[in-house]
Amino acid sequence: MDFKSIIRDIPDFPQQGIIFRDITPLLAHPQGLTKIIQGFQTKLIESNIREIDCIIGIESRGFILGAPLAMALGCSFVPVRKPKKLPSSVFRVEYALEYGTDILEMHQDAIATGQKVIIIDDVIATGGTAAAAAKLVTLAGGELIGYGFLIELDFLKGRKALPEVPIISLVNY
Ligand code: AMP
Repeated sequence: MDFKSIIRDIPDFPQQGIIFRDITPLLAHPQGLTKIIQGFQTKLIESNIREIDCIIGIESRGFILGAPLAMALGCSFVPVRKPKKLPSSVFRVEYALEYGTDILEMHQDAIATGQKVIIIDDVIATGGTAAAAAKLVTLAGGELIGYGFLIELDFLKGRKALPEVPIISLVNY
């Protein structure tokens, strides 16, 4: 499946100068999610990322992709969420945005010490969000063994902001 031809480009959203890569047409395609999950599985094998205990999905599009991947791999799924959404005790990481800061949280008991974890999101742009999620994994005592993104915006060099683990992406711009 040619993902790029189905992903919709929305210029100047959410602000002037940004081309938003809208994955909703791909999710709406009857084979879309299946092909994305198969794509992730193939690239995980190619990159030798194996024996995954846990998938971390970053709110909110990371949930849509991470949960079915966890089902396919037979591993656990853990949501990393925006502040004040999770009901139990959380680890919290604040990180820089282009303007201001943002916060991500994860339940303190979500990952057991030493569990092998991969982080999934729809897009890596500057890498700030994915780097913050990695800090949450470290705080919880998990072992980060890889990242998976549907889309990588190569020109923003986001992977330079991430820890040195294998990074897979299915579509590059
Ligand atoms: P960053 O922290 O800069 O890597 O941004 C990644 C987060 O912002 C992801 O959760 C994406 O969903 C979202 N994002 C950033 N840039 C775009 C874009 N051009 N199109 C769609 N989503 C984006």
